[in-house]
Amino acid sequence: MSDTPRPEPATVPTSTELIHHPYVPPPGFQAVVPAVHKASTVVFPNVAAMRSRTWRDKSGYTYGLHGTPTSFMLEERIATLEGGRHTLLAPSGLAALLLVNVALLKQGDEVLIPDNGYGPAKELARHELAGWGIRHRFYDPMLSGEALAGLIGEHTRLLWLEAPGSVTMEFPDLSALVAAARQRGVLCALDNTWGAGLAFNPFALPGGQGVDVSVQALTKYPSGGGDVLMGSATTRDEAVHQRLQLAHMRLGLGVGANDVEAVLRSLPSVALRYEAHDRAAREVAAFLQSRPEVVQLLHPAFAGSPGHEHWARTCRGAAGLFSVVLDARYPAAQVDAFVDALRLFKIGYSWGGPVSLVVPYDVPSMRSAGRWAHAGGLVRFSIGLERPADLIDDLTQALGQLAG
Ligand SMILES: *Cc1c(COP(=O)(O)O)cnc(C)c1O
Repeated sequence: MSDTPRPEPATVPTSTELIHHPYVPPPGFQAVVPAVHKASTVVFPNVAAMRSRTWRDKSGYTYGLHGTPTSFMLEERIATLEGGRHTLLAPSGLAALLLVNVALLKQGDEVLIPDNGYGPAKELARHELAGWGIRHRFYDPMLSGEALAGLIGEHTRLLWLEAPGSVTMEFPDLSALVAAARQRGVLCALDNTWGAGLAFNPFALPGGQGVDVSVQALTKYPSGGGDVLMGSATTRDEAVHQRLQLAHMRLGLGVGANDVEAVLRSLPSVALRYEAHDRAAREVAAFLQSRPEVVQLLHPAFAGSPGHEHWARTCRGAAGLFSVVLDARYPAAQVDAFVDALRLFKIGYSWGGPVSLVVPYDVPSMRSAGRWAHAGGLVRFSIGLERPADLIDDLTQALGQLAG
């Protein structure tokens, strides 16, 4: 289809001929599916174009790390999912949490982190952030706005939030905590992996205020397949976005185009999947709550779960994630044996994929602020997309082994 005539082939083609080949596919290919653009080098028609082009407002391409049509497309779609304006992609959810910390904190600053927050993010504060002279405090996630205000000192710059904590599932009073922080000029960042942009809008919480940055592990629901690691950091605020964007560039946080494509492919079904996970999880959770072996269900959509009233005021849905506390008469080894006895539930970290997952946790070893009320073992479930009745059968047989 090219107008360029083919040159007479040399007897043996040279590598130059194979690299600088005259054939150019016709422009105008249009498909429903986004294209996968892969590049480190991006070429410029001349030096002037190289010098004048910018990537920062997505008006041009300068280098693969600064963005491609594929990565810009996913950033824009995640911004829409989150109700924000700007999104940056990172190679994992944890890398996105690191990006926010590095961009918004410096030596001498203090950051407040919920005690039920994502474990590796707490470890990051204890080790790397502490080593860089950034102090942290772990706060009880169920604090009132007033009590949180009492923790804010003259060096406090950033408040982390997670709603709910992804093991113990307490749902905080997000609106009150955000209002208390904002009143003192403290930036608010939310780990919104659980909400996924679907349960509530992190930039428009009840009461009207919102967080400054919303982070997601796209690894979970947006990917949906258990096969991609990726994170995002989304903002509405131009100044905060610019700080994140420059730190992102200087840190070299690139994502692979094939991974971006995998998320782009899953994203159109994220709302349907989230709803299906939610429905199935509530069915399985209700079953477990009715069992005598279970003393406490930890699922924010259920009355009696910590922060249920905050969930009810904030959310229009829930992720397919919950925990149960078993009766304290079962020692840890018996709780482990119950988990081992499950067949459909696989033992493994992460969540948001089609396969139901289970992990037993030793909560007291994970907490330093506030009380943990329960003596029995905690088991967390991520409900996949299997038939809920089959999951309930599996739990029934494993609970039978617990009793025996
Ligand atoms: C999984 C997870 C992360 C980290 O995501 P990765 O992509 O595994 O690094 C962060 N926060 C929460 C709440 C998560 O569940």
